[in-house]
Amino acid sequence: MTRTGGVLAPHRRIVIKIGSSLLVDRASGLKRDWLASIAADIATLASHGAQILVVSSGAIALGRSILNRPAGTLKLEESQAAAACGQIALARAWSEALAGHDLHAGQILLTLGDTEERRRYLNARATITTLLKLGAIPVINENDTVATTEIRYGDNDRLAARVASMMSADLLILLSDVDGLYTAPPERDPDAEFIKRVPRITREIEAMAGSAGSELSRGGMVTKIEAGKIATGSGTAMVIASGRELNPVATLDSSGHGTWFEPAGNPVTARKKWISGQLGTAGAIHVDAGAARALQAGKSLLPAGITRVEGSFARGDIVIVRDHDTAEIARGIVAYDMADAARIAGCKSHRIAEILGYEGRSEMIHRDDLVLHHDRRHAARPEEKSLEEEH
Ligand code: GLU
Repeated sequence: MTRTGGVLAPHRRIVIKIGSSLLVDRASGLKRDWLASIAADIATLASHGAQILVVSSGAIALGRSILNRPAGTLKLEESQAAAACGQIALARAWSEALAGHDLHAGQILLTLGDTEERRRYLNARATITTLLKLGAIPVINENDTVATTEIRYGDNDRLAARVASMMSADLLILLSDVDGLYTAPPERDPDAEFIKRVPRITREIEAMAGSAGSELSRGGMVTKIEAGKIATGSGTAMVIASGRELNPVATLDSSGHGTWFEPAGNPVTARKKWISGQLGTAGAIHVDAGAARALQAGKSLLPAGITRVEGSFARGDIVIVRDHDTAEIARGIVAYDMADAARIAGCKSHRIAEILGYEGRSEMIHRDDLVLHHDRRHAARPEEKSLEEEH
């Protein structure tokens, strides 16, 4: 049942989103056999070197079943309470299922701002990157116990797409109770045709999504298409595939059956495009000739090469990088607030903790967050450096 060399083989960083109805049965609660089967699939991919992130729904549905709440709409505080009981059980189930394959699960509960505000975005990304580096499997959900209507993603399709984009994943798999997108709702229209590839999300594609959705999950086809826009726009491919049977990921790997959305460029190029497209900058960082050369060679900007900082910027802001002639050579997302950047300017990265009193990032601007001036003018570089850290 486990395979290599399937359609998933080329993908190195994969986000797998699992809908509530796949994991939780209203009457009997958690579907343990199904969970065990997907844990086995994840272990197989991980053993072939892929980094896997799970976005698991099911907290509210499971909490509801644990607390014996009847069917029907829940009030906000009821769904928050259900999520509180459900999430702890869900996390435990994931932890145990993955432990059976010697994998550690790390729980991440996100609220909207964690992916939408750059400052917190850098933080969430650093934590998840570290989990992946340590070989753990991030198991992510929305923090439903504190999220209210105004400040929530609301559905995990879009949450998963944000995570995929934030983490520069190369593939997002949306496992669902449908096997993909059809030209019309297949249960109602016998002429409905299955759509295998979506090179670009057009109005026509959006219209096909209609407003279908199963009872247990909030995310119908509409939110899946929204997720597709976020993911493909960030350079992440997406596939909607059936999660109904056991070992759904292994099945997808061998059959390739699902609706595949093609990405616009690769994730790093997409982020760089986004950086280039931002109009405002919050300040400038002046660098010496050595750092300027290192940047041209595709390296990150380290504090050691910085001669001076100016403006007023906060961690996560976009700043201009200037050489000793004050010419703009790049711009990028800065990893420190202005005051701290000034204090570590010119210092070796290993001294950061001693100077600031906390362990910070070694880079002032990571190369994936940096766009060279030359590339801004001549569109993004065709080949990009790998996503691996250089330290
Ligand atoms: N975060 C919700 C939960 O875990 C699921 C949202 C969704 O179904 O998309 O219950």
